Amino acid sequence: MAAFDTILTQELADLEAQHLRRRLQVMEAMLPGGKVQVAGQVLLNLSSNDYLGLATDRRLITAAQAAAARWGVGSTASRLIVGTLGLHQEVEEAVAAFKGTPRAVLFNTGYMANVGVIAALMGKGDVVFSDKLNHASIIDGLRLAEAAFYRYPHRDLDRLAALLQKHQQARRKLIITDSVFSVDGDLAPLRELVALKDRYGAWLMIDEAHGTGVFGAKGAGVAEALGLTEAIEIHMGTFSKALGSFGAYVAGSAPLIEMLHNKARSFIYSTALPPPVLGAMQAAMEIVRQEPAGRSYLLTQAALFRQRLQEGGLNILDSETQIIPVLVGDNAQALEYAAALRQRGLMAVAIRPPTVPPGGARLRFSLSAAHQADELAQAVATIVQVGRELEISRGSEVGSKRLGAEIKDR
Ligand SMILES: *Cc1c(COP(=O)(O)O)cnc(C)c1O
Repeated sequence: MAAFDTILTQELADLEAQHLRRRLQVMEAMLPGGKVQVAGQVLLNLSSNDYLGLATDRRLITAAQAAAARWGVGSTASRLIVGTLGLHQEVEEAVAAFKGTPRAVLFNTGYMANVGVIAALMGKGDVVFSDKLNHASIIDGLRLAEAAFYRYPHRDLDRLAALLQKHQQARRKLIITDSVFSVDGDLAPLRELVALKDRYGAWLMIDEAHGTGVFGAKGAGVAEALGLTEAIEIHMGTFSKALGSFGAYVAGSAPLIEMLHNKARSFIYSTALPPPVLGAMQAAMEIVRQEPAGRSYLLTQAALFRQRLQEGGLNILDSETQIIPVLVGDNAQALEYAAALRQRGLMAVAIRPPTVPPGGARLRFSLSAAHQADELAQAVATIVQVGRELEISRGSEVGSKRLGAEIKDR
């Protein structure tokens, strides 16, 4: 017992020495306007995925309560046993209508969807091609599947085409990409990926965790915005980000959904989502369809925020979305930057390796439609000002060429 704790304590101390130790921070209250209270201090929350401010929306809360009142708080079993309630069916039909696909299936989390789908569809003799900056849940899905996989350099279509060419004889070929990349905030070249997969007889799966609710006329995601819904075989996304609550979906053809019912282990061997979450999902989809103003405000504010950071000399990589990184480089300096901003009332988290490559430490800002325009303008001015005080801009410009290369090699 004593030796066990000593070994782990030493390992934690090693992480601490590299400025890589992580600690939980407790949010004491969720406040209006996209703010939180932490250690007694009210902060503008520039780190949440609650892009539309729906997590505390009255209408979602009421819908969750109503679902609990009617169906209870538990689903009592996994989906294939007796856990499929009428409410699951209703929500899945609503997801298919929202996404514009024939069918859809719910997963308990986005992590579980990615881990389940890849192994369900891809086995021995198959090959999966995954963008190097795809979310960790996709990487874990690749590890679990029996198929071979290749992680192509970020958004590098030439390298992907070469890999597809080389593996033309594989039984099945699947390309997987985030639509909005979760740490860099840039977009996948979906049109080009569709053209490539058609040319090589591959399938395409997109993860719209950060696109759902934010992009598209109906808010269904980047595929909708580009008119590519029907061209893409597998649409995955979550309810845990812009949609404010929890859970995930996979949308596509009837055979896809029925295959997942039969083969996706993370779907089969876990208790079905509970009714209050399903109620919140329904309400969120309704609001997203009916209120495009939230996402258009969000994207307008994000464009302004990015422009002001760039004018302030900061390196925002290729961000084109509501996710906006500021490259710092050094782990300790990223922590120092985050701490200085916190003193000025801003909640921003330093993202460090292994989430980003060594030397790629950064702050990652995410905006919400709940944020007031004047508070965002004030925030970006503070970020630029503090960046100057810490000489962030100069440091990251010097290193950005080298870091760009490293990031591509991740
Ligand atoms: C957050 C995220 C997930 C995981 O979704 P959860 O519902 O939080 O498990 C998957 N993919 C991407 C790109 C994400 O950002």
